[in-house]
Amino acid sequence: MTALTVVKLSYFVAATLFLLGLQRMASPRTARSGIQWAGVGMLIATVATFFLPGLHNLGLMVVAIVIGVAVNWAWGRKVAITDMPQMVALFNGMGGGSAAAIGAVELVRFSVGEPVPSTFTLALAVVGALIGAVSLTGSVIAWAKLDGRMDKRYTFPGQQWFNALVALAAVACGVMAMTTLATPWIIAFFVLALALGVLMTLPIGGADMPVVISLYNAFTGLAVAFEGYVLGNEALIIAGMMVGAAGTLLTQLMAKAMNRPITGVLFSNFGGGGQAQEIAGSQKPIEAGDVAAMMAYAERVVIVPGYGLAVAQAQHKVWELTQKLMERGVKVKFAIHPVAGRMPGHMNVLLAEAGVPYDLIADMDDINPEFPATDVSLVIGANDVVNPVAKTDPASPIFGMPILDVVNSKNTIVIKRGKGTGFAGIENALFYADNTRMLYGDAASMVSALVSELKALDGGGH
Ligand code: NDP
Repeated sequence: MTALTVVKLSYFVAATLFLLGLQRMASPRTARSGIQWAGVGMLIATVATFFLPGLHNLGLMVVAIVIGVAVNWAWGRKVAITDMPQMVALFNGMGGGSAAAIGAVELVRFSVGEPVPSTFTLALAVVGALIGAVSLTGSVIAWAKLDGRMDKRYTFPGQQWFNALVALAAVACGVMAMTTLATPWIIAFFVLALALGVLMTLPIGGADMPVVISLYNAFTGLAVAFEGYVLGNEALIIAGMMVGAAGTLLTQLMAKAMNRPITGVLFSNFGGGGQAQEIAGSQKPIEAGDVAAMMAYAERVVIVPGYGLAVAQAQHKVWELTQKLMERGVKVKFAIHPVAGRMPGHMNVLLAEAGVPYDLIADMDDINPEFPATDVSLVIGANDVVNPVAKTDPASPIFGMPILDVVNSKNTIVIKRGKGTGFAGIENALFYADNTRMLYGDAASMVSALVSELKALDGGGH
């Protein structure tokens, strides 16, 4: 068997592991092992690549891998779970950047006299580089926004026209780069492609970031697959296609969850036009003892977790609270909004970690009709996903986004630390509603307080 056959067979094994890993990631129960399977696949593919005939710069490749593994191992070990989305955005961008770099190297290689491939292959190199470069700089901007390092939205008059012009110019330079293989065109093409990623992402904000992040994820996959074709590397093609397909499906799901067409997210500066409506009334505080009593004597309680629950890592305490309530005969359910938290499935993962049974967890569409019959809705660190202005204020940046209709419940209790806004940076009309009370404090300590108050009630003979 030749070295090449061994490499190709290894790629086949790696691709099978990617596929099985992806399949296992579909359920929280098997997701952890799915990641490990895919990781082993990637290790096999990486090691096998070293045995490709005619490879150069082995030393440089090893140095790059050692640096990459060391930095990311250290970072991955200490990253807080709440900072995961930023990390994922950045890693995703790096994938796009790598694909763009492959495109650049290939174009330069052909420009210095190496045999030029077919026009089709050249076109794929350029398209892959364009998508990869947009994904790189776009993901870096998404990272900065998620990390709170940048204003959520940056707009200027005529922005969409300007962006369209830059996109056209990038495509034109790409065509020139592949037809002439002249260095100035190649440089101009990459500068414009990188700029396009920044420009496209700057105006996107509010609650649209989840759609953008998954879109760039799909972009990276596609870019890697195209460049894999250019290099003739099956492992890259298969891994890229899988990321591209999964990312595209996720983008569609997120866009549907947000009720936004993808083109709307990218090109129309959703919402935020004009002056947001004033919210009348005041936020009315309540004590943990009163909340515990309300819930203890309620028939139906719905718990709505959000990003603050993840920050406070209160999921285990919340499950303890739920069990206490269920022991008293209260019917408890969890309401999950598809973009609650900072990454797709964030709340499901947290609740699964705490051992909350799946039959207590309801999706938005299933739970929304149940709110009018709910005695107490307990909102824990959620904000945007329960904000009724999404339905009532056309000037709001989240207008049109489907929300959990907590505002329809008989009583609402909101646990949050103070008057801080959510990711979209806007006021929440729910907090000012007549039947809403605010339990101010960190989610973990407040839920602990509720558990203690319930125990005290039990001790008191109720
Ligand atoms: P939000 O970000 O809207 O609100 C979170 C709330 O939690 C804040 O108002 C904050 O208020 C409170 N909070 C923060 N820390 C704590 C704590 N320790 N204890 C108690 N409360 C706390 O969260 P949602 O889950 O409602 O909405 C998610 C948002 O993130 C949406 O806008 C979504 O589009 C966006 N997003 C989602 C992604 C995804 O894939 N799921 C990805 C990127 C963005 P206070 O400071 O007063 O405590």
